Amino acid sequence: MSQPITYCSHCFTKNRLGQENDLSSARCGRCQHPLFAHTPVTASASNIESLLQSDVPVVIDCWASWCGPCLQFAPVFSQVAQELEPRMRFAKLDTEQEPALAARFAIRSIPTLLVFAGGKLLAQRSGSLPASVFKMWLQSVLEQQVTK
Ligand SMILES: [Zn+2]
Repeated sequence: MSQPITYCSHCFTKNRLGQENDLSSARCGRCQHPLFAHTPVTASASNIESLLQSDVPVVIDCWASWCGPCLQFAPVFSQVAQELEPRMRFAKLDTEQEPALAARFAIRSIPTLLVFAGGKLLAQRSGSLPASVFKMWLQSVLEQQVTK
């Protein structure tokens, strides 16, 4: 996978990453915004295919506004997004706003975390986590992906 594809945080156009680029400063070929905003994007029916097809693994936080543990986890998710992009991407799926996507991913409890890369589900986990445990889990997902 020498030239992975990922989406633009601003317009969700798929971009092919150049090997020479410092990924943190990479810009979208279409809208010229930074590819990696270092903050979670909002997953929706209109951008979900770009998110799922990203070769850079995408962590999706499935949540709802009435869910206490989800709200508690939200700042952890944002903090880890800040730290781990561009190695991973981060998106939030509001299960009330996007019930069709919640059904598609068979979300039965929230928060649920899904990790996709290249259109495949790599890992899934339910429940709020402290940042240290969340990062350790993501690290193990990345390591699994490398050895595959
Ligand atoms: Zn763009």
